[in-house]
Amino acid sequence: MSRELRHCYRDPLSEVWLAAAYRIGLRVQRCEDAFAHSDGKGTIHIASSAHLDADDCLAQMIFHELCHSLIEGPDSFAREDWGLDNSSHHDDEREHATLRLQACLAARYGLRELLAPTTDFRSFFDALGRDPLADRSDHSVQLAIMGLRRSDTNPWWPHLGKALQSSADIAQIAAGWAAPSSLPVLYRLYRSPPGAHPTGLPAGRAHDGEDCSRCAWRAADGTCFQAQQPVDAALPACERFEAAFDCQDCGACCREAYHSVTIAEGDPVAIRHPSLVVHRESYSEIAREDGHCVALQNQAGRYSCTIYEDRPTCCREFENAGEHCLTARRRVGLSL
Ligand code: SF4
Ligand code: SF4
Repeated sequence: MSRELRHCYRDPLSEVWLAAAYRIGLRVQRCEDAFAHSDGKGTIHIASSAHLDADDCLAQMIFHELCHSLIEGPDSFAREDWGLDNSSHHDDEREHATLRLQACLAARYGLRELLAPTTDFRSFFDALGRDPLADRSDHSVQLAIMGLRRSDTNPWWPHLGKALQSSADIAQIAAGWAAPSSLPVLYRLYRSPPGAHPTGLPAGRAHDGEDCSRCAWRAADGTCFQAQQPVDAALPACERFEAAFDCQDCGACCREAYHSVTIAEGDPVAIRHPSLVVHRESYSEIAREDGHCVALQNQAGRYSCTIYEDRPTCCREFENAGEHCLTARRRVGLSL
């Protein structure tokens, strides 16, 4: 005798990520002819379960695609495969950025191993080390930092964070019920995440042994520019700890982080270097080229100012490790 079906069962982790994608503005459709593919029209196509390996997880695959969207920015929703070329190694750097971001976001919730990718890039992911953003000279790290900052903005926020937290809740409970089997279930890869930092910033798991007293972002008066509050020197380092930075490795404030280097009245640069000065209707500024101040030079990756002794007042007053320095470094992906 047949019975009427009134409900259906679905995997809760999959439900969380299908809903997260939907709230972010994307549909997910299972398909037979692609592993994972974004069509640029609002749909992510992901292979049906019959085409996946035992350790493939729909949640991870959606999460990975969302990380791609974070690296490429909101305009990428309208581009096929987020605008990436998947047929060559041309965009490997952007794939690496996606994996660094995926590792950072997942680690905050104890999901770095559970939500690890299963593609050819798995070995890269596994070799990332405790801090996937440690090498700030690596362009894929800079892209990942910019993606991480986007995760706190629309349309990803708050859905991505909620999906990660819900996944951690589900995994933690399911891991305790998982029966022994020849292939341990993925839920067993859940790890307790680091506790929150007292400032509310993400905890500094990768900076064991460091404290706020040695962080460049803590000003002499005890204010942390990252936390925007006074912090005790003895607090353990948060995720955003940076010991120091060398302006010659950075150059952010002289290049695309800001759009203009204005010249104050009486600045000698206007007399000593007139060919570098552009006079606007109500102000004068140093000319720009390819998005940076023309006086900035880059020799073998080291930035320097060709008019350093005559630099304008605004450059003289610009404070290394100050609030505007933080803004500049964030804009180019050098600081969290
Ligand atoms: S940014 Fe630096 S000073 Fe601020 S809380 Fe983190 S480690 Fe401490
Ligand atoms: S942004 Fe800060 S660290 Fe970078 S060059 Fe400017 S002052 Fe130096």
